[in-house]
Amino acid sequence: PRLANQIAAGEVVERPASVVKELVENSIDAGATRVDIDIESGGVKLIKIRDNGGGILKDDLALALSRHATSKITELEDLEAVASLGFRGEALASICSVSRLLLTSNTEGQEEAWCVRVEGRDMEPVLSPASHPTGTTIEVRDLFYNTPARRKFLRTEKTEFGHLEEVIKRIALSHFDINFQLRHNQRVIHQLRAAHSALEKDRRVATVCGPAFLEQAVCIDAQVGDMRLWGWVGLPTFSRSQADLQYFFVNGRVIRDKLVSHAVRQAYRDVLYNGRHPAFVLYLELDPAGVDVNVHPTKHEVRFRDSRAVHNFLFSQLHHALAEVSP
Ligand code: ADP
Ligand code: MG
Repeated sequence: PRLANQIAAGEVVERPASVVKELVENSIDAGATRVDIDIESGGVKLIKIRDNGGGILKDDLALALSRHATSKITELEDLEAVASLGFRGEALASICSVSRLLLTSNTEGQEEAWCVRVEGRDMEPVLSPASHPTGTTIEVRDLFYNTPARRKFLRTEKTEFGHLEEVIKRIALSHFDINFQLRHNQRVIHQLRAAHSALEKDRRVATVCGPAFLEQAVCIDAQVGDMRLWGWVGLPTFSRSQADLQYFFVNGRVIRDKLVSHAVRQAYRDVLYNGRHPAFVLYLELDPAGVDVNVHPTKHEVRFRDSRAVHNFLFSQLHHALAEVSP
């Protein structure tokens, strides 16, 4: 079965950034309000994630590392209404098949913490007592140490860390209520305090996207029927290369979608005669039944049931917001 894990790992674990994404999503699933991410050498040497979530019971530790042991999908209906981020039940199994992994956890009411250690696909998990407050710490060392072909595809430390930082930014922008700390080679890169008020949210957006974006951005918050669009749209006077500053979340998940890009670009072009590289951080919320989340683990695609209605809503709301502030 471990071999199957290693093959599956190819899908989930592309690079350090994909490991970080899966692990931080697990922390969020576990109800963490604080997640600390420690990275060494772009994540190839070490990815360490510590959270204060609910933790994992001693008896479930080894199980958590086994494939599909925890898949939350039982019926197609579950899939359609899936609100929780993780539902494939294979991320940890995949990650531990291509790394040296140490999982330490404690739960409320358990007398002591326990840890489980696994190396690659040749080893059965070993349990031992440990010390840890309620919550979980996962250390992933030497990623792809046993898969040289995959290791060869890794880029420089800087590039890999860049991808990883991008993952954290997306997560930070979709979970304002969680404290995040990201460190690289012992240096604090992002320190993000939980943001509840509008001002605190502005502050997080400024930290993540840069103060220049926020200064030039217009806030939007509009609701029509069961669709709500809120967030920040930057004006094109914002000069820095904006190509990478496009965040669009649908029901909390970051997506890249042609229909969405088209609606946004069209609104910019209509109002400002400039649809090139708009910068935005936008959140679309709608009835989960109105959108298919793509079940492929690494793609960020969605399919809207009523795509015309979504397009019209996005276009008209953005048009309205931009027109109000356009010179
Ligand atoms: P999935 O998240 O799809 O269920 P994973 O392989 O990512 O699959 O995780 C397996 C299981 O391990 C989770 O369902 C959860 O029960 C447990 N788990 C993983 N990480 C954590 C964490 N940080 N805190 C609590 N439980 C966790
Ligand atoms: Mg998961």
